[in-house]
Amino acid sequence: MSFSSLGLAPSLINAVAEIGYQEPTAIQRAAIPAILRGEDVLGAAQTGSGKTAAFALPLLQSLLDNRSGPRQLHGLVLVPTRELAAQVGESIRKLALHLAMPVKVSIVFGGVSINPQMMALRGGADIVVATPGRLLDLIDHNALKISRTAMLVLDEADRLLDLGFSEELARILQLLPAQRQNLFFSATFPPEVQALADRMLHQPARIEVLSEPVSKPDIAQRAIMVDAPRRTQLLKHLIQQHKWPRVLVFVATKYAAEHVADKLQRNGIRAAAFHGEFSQGARTEVLADFKASRLQVLVATDVAARGIDIARLPAVVNYDLPRSAVDYTHRIGRTGRAGESGVAVSFVSADTEAHFRLIEKRNGILLPREQVAGFEPKQTEAPVPVASVTDTVNGGIKGKRKSKKDKLREAAARAAAE
Ligand code: AMP
Repeated sequence: MSFSSLGLAPSLINAVAEIGYQEPTAIQRAAIPAILRGEDVLGAAQTGSGKTAAFALPLLQSLLDNRSGPRQLHGLVLVPTRELAAQVGESIRKLALHLAMPVKVSIVFGGVSINPQMMALRGGADIVVATPGRLLDLIDHNALKISRTAMLVLDEADRLLDLGFSEELARILQLLPAQRQNLFFSATFPPEVQALADRMLHQPARIEVLSEPVSKPDIAQRAIMVDAPRRTQLLKHLIQQHKWPRVLVFVATKYAAEHVADKLQRNGIRAAAFHGEFSQGARTEVLADFKASRLQVLVATDVAARGIDIARLPAVVNYDLPRSAVDYTHRIGRTGRAGESGVAVSFVSADTEAHFRLIEKRNGILLPREQVAGFEPKQTEAPVPVASVTDTVNGGIKGKRKSKKDKLREAAARAAAE
């Protein structure tokens, strides 16, 4: 199937060809005709599915078809993070660049001065890509009116709610006209996301590409057993062994991000931390360095890394395991994008094994536990020798909670000793 069979105008088909997309992805094939028919859309799509173009192309077409008179906001795209705002806004600009008519796409997000964004909105905008808080600030400053928006896009709705934007969303929905087209995209649908979709959408076309994305990311998932204190050395070893030109490393805290980046640097690896306490300027700079391969390793927290699109990322490492199965999916989705292959490595220790098992269960995967020579874990669930049974009963190895397996082994050992 080609882009020309989806009902897109020739100028947009041209734009797609200029960018170099050969054929539409699954979500594009399903969503574009429905959006062009004016339907609301509920899209379940994961990272790398091509969902930005899936909504941007029909949004641009509807703008071209309907624009007359002074410029007024036609499309509003709400996204959870600044990085995603920049990325989605740039993607729409890229597509719009090839059209005969100039299209003004404004990108607004918090954490930076509001004044330049207010200036940029003078004379209006055709499409605004925004994080919810800053959008409301701009509306409060009379820099922007959304009361005549024709199309609303919620991108990564689950993330928007995760990050606590539900009140802002409710206010925004009240300010929008009742008559509008709604496009709702989310990777996951927990009850609160489903409830928001039910409130917002009118008989939506349901599009689900989670199970069979056309450009199914080719991600080799690995779980390596290693004791926590040895993770940085193992990371260094893997980077050198596999000669990964770039790797995104996930950690649990800002402190860990700084600490691990610092240790890698001292080992001669070009690494930097990336977390929420960075100024916008610093974030942009670090990301640009990473994208341009001036940095080899980015050590990031979840919030900072959410939504960033870095082409051809060969590897992601879960230095600290993600908190949830959903976060695991999001993290590993940073590699193997748009048909490229990638590897996602998770470091697992005796203490985190049970947690990782839960992540596997929720995601329907089961990975073999690997060990790397020289980094074999010492804190594994070693069989309890009969001689030490009494010690173990009185508290066991210091700091290590007994697993169910340990208890079973103890019982067996006791039975054997009697
Ligand atoms: P997205 O899921 O929108 O973040 O897109 C993921 C990546 O796929 C981006 O780098 C896009 O440029 C790319 N992409 C989107 N649509 C296509 C397509 N039809 N063919 C090839 N690549 C695409």
